[in-house]
Amino acid sequence: TETGFQSETLDLDPPAIAPQRDLMSKFDGLIAERKALIDTGVTDPFAIVMEQVKSPTEAVIAGRDTILLGTYNYMGMTFDPDVVAAGKTALDRFGSGTNGSRMLNGTFQDHVDVEQALRDFYDMSGAIVFSTGYMANLGMISTLATKGEYVILDADSHASIYDGCAQGNAEIVRFRHNSVEDLDKRLGRLPKEPAKLVVLEGVYSMLGDIAPLREMVAVARKHDAMVLVDEAHSMGFFGPNGRGVYEDQGLDVDFIVGTFSKSVGTVGGFCVSNHPKFEAIRLACRPYIFTASLPPSVVATAATSIRKLAVAHEKRARLWENARALHGGLKAMGFTLGTETPESAIVAVILEDQQQAVGIWQALLDGGLYVNVARPPATPAGTFLLRCSICAEHTAEQIATVLTMFRAAGRAVGVIG
Ligand code: PMP
Repeated sequence: TETGFQSETLDLDPPAIAPQRDLMSKFDGLIAERKALIDTGVTDPFAIVMEQVKSPTEAVIAGRDTILLGTYNYMGMTFDPDVVAAGKTALDRFGSGTNGSRMLNGTFQDHVDVEQALRDFYDMSGAIVFSTGYMANLGMISTLATKGEYVILDADSHASIYDGCAQGNAEIVRFRHNSVEDLDKRLGRLPKEPAKLVVLEGVYSMLGDIAPLREMVAVARKHDAMVLVDEAHSMGFFGPNGRGVYEDQGLDVDFIVGTFSKSVGTVGGFCVSNHPKFEAIRLACRPYIFTASLPPSVVATAATSIRKLAVAHEKRARLWENARALHGGLKAMGFTLGTETPESAIVAVILEDQQQAVGIWQALLDGGLYVNVARPPATPAGTFLLRCSICAEHTAEQIATVLTMFRAAGRAVGVIG
């Protein structure tokens, strides 16, 4: 043939690929580690199935009624009758999916409506919805800061922030978690000319600690850097209007990233901004352009939920009450927690090793309570955590039950006296 291709030299019944060239071989360590854990007789913590979900705080797991204390359903919106009705109406009127990118045929009336709901919620001029919060960070960070520019991020940033840095080609600089001083020092060492983006989170989801945003933003401004804050774990219950930690601390920032997968109670991501050129992001942002848009039912539930969150003052108050009760109760029992005082709706119980973490986790699950297990590399400083995330809809009785179960499990495993 013209290309010199000789089909008779081609083995049409080839031998198996050699192990050293099997791309899947790199997972052997992970497979062995998981097998060793399961062989100890515990339930696989990363393969839980919700067989039935009864409410924002209760599900059936392995045939047992279980209190949910490990979901990000902070404001308990998933079963709100108005939210569910909005989804059903959109499903009936617009069908199950969009079959396309926001840029082409994938913008339906409900996508426009949810962006308006976000502009109203944040009182900002611009809002762009992405298919997930992960993609909002991926897209915003990689599109905002490009070659020759800088992204400065907290060392404990969420994976989607790190991946946004990896996707783009700006220079990346990390500073020590929540250290205003280190941020100042690192910004001070950079050349003055290039544009810079400082990326922060309102609440850090592993330990449930909040950022000293007021000082951080002041330092960023001192060095002429723009600021993006991921408020994924604060939307709905921080600040007078539930906008996030930045609102609670009375700040203006350039870009807020958020998600529909936590307080809003569905799936999706967004960025809001007052920047007059913000709309240009839609023309350049690959994770916005090269993927299908959210189904109309999803954005319709999000819009309804966001409008209700704006005025959910009573729920906010209940969430904080629950957070204080859980944090105070666990602390009094002698557990080591991620924060000294209740800073957010996440209460992290810090344990010595995987055996302790999985031991308590299993005892809680067997008793009918689900919490998250978190382990390195997702956690800071090699810690093993049981992460409790609180819902406004948890009742005082549920919190009391949770505390009783933690006391029994903690004693059984020897973590508390
Ligand atoms: N940012 C932070 C801080 C998060 O914790 C998460 C998800 N846990 C995301 C972004 C991604 O959100 P989503 O689930 O919408 O992809």
